[in-house]
Amino acid sequence: CGIVGYIGWQEAAPVLLKGLKRLEYRGYDSAGIALLNGTISVMKQKGNVSGLETDTAKLREKMPGATIGIGHTRWATHGDPSDRNAHPHLNAAGDIAVIHNGIIENYSALKQELISEGYLFISDTDSEVLVHLIDWLWKKDASLDLESATRTALRHVDGAYGLCVISSREPDRIVVARKGSPLVIGIGEGEFFIASDAAPIVEHTNKVVYLSDGELAVVTKEGYSVKTIENVEQEKLVTELDF
Ligand code: GLU
Repeated sequence: CGIVGYIGWQEAAPVLLKGLKRLEYRGYDSAGIALLNGTISVMKQKGNVSGLETDTAKLREKMPGATIGIGHTRWATHGDPSDRNAHPHLNAAGDIAVIHNGIIENYSALKQELISEGYLFISDTDSEVLVHLIDWLWKKDASLDLESATRTALRHVDGAYGLCVISSREPDRIVVARKGSPLVIGIGEGEFFIASDAAPIVEHTNKVVYLSDGELAVVTKEGYSVKTIENVEQEKLVTELDF
């Protein structure tokens, strides 16, 4: 339902929580965040964003100074609203985290295939296939990186997505992609904001880039690059929002 991401110099947790609150108007049944600082830590639960705040305070104590993170408000389509089904979803090693808006139409076939490869599913969501699929493709081909593993995974996926992926194997980036579910990148000074609409971004910057369907972007604190899922580089227009 709602997506936020942050990479830069500020502590990510408060930026993400505030961003999730700006997305509350869309409605949701659960919320969660993942912070990346050497390793990935996840807090997620059924219920509202303020409920998440207490846990996030604990998470900040555990991971002081995490300047990269992603957050999600879920509107359940596959699997009950529950702590377990809330996003982000992790792979078994806990070194890849994914948040997803939309519906993966062929998740059932992908899930069966991944289960036959030995993958264990924790949630009942369609979204969880994404993190295991990325993990599996990356394992099969060590020449891949987070970006190309995500791109390859998305070529196997039918359906709609707005998504963010982080990995402690490449702890300086957020990979984002969109097809049928909006994603905006906000451009700051040495910091970038990601969101499913501009509402969480406008208080930080008025410069935004709207991803188009079929595009994937790599965002670091130095900049961003956008390509198509077919790996063709894209020139993106920076829009200045006036408020
Ligand atoms: N289909 C996903 C789920 O049920 C994502 C729903 C959403 O867009 O929030 O978990």
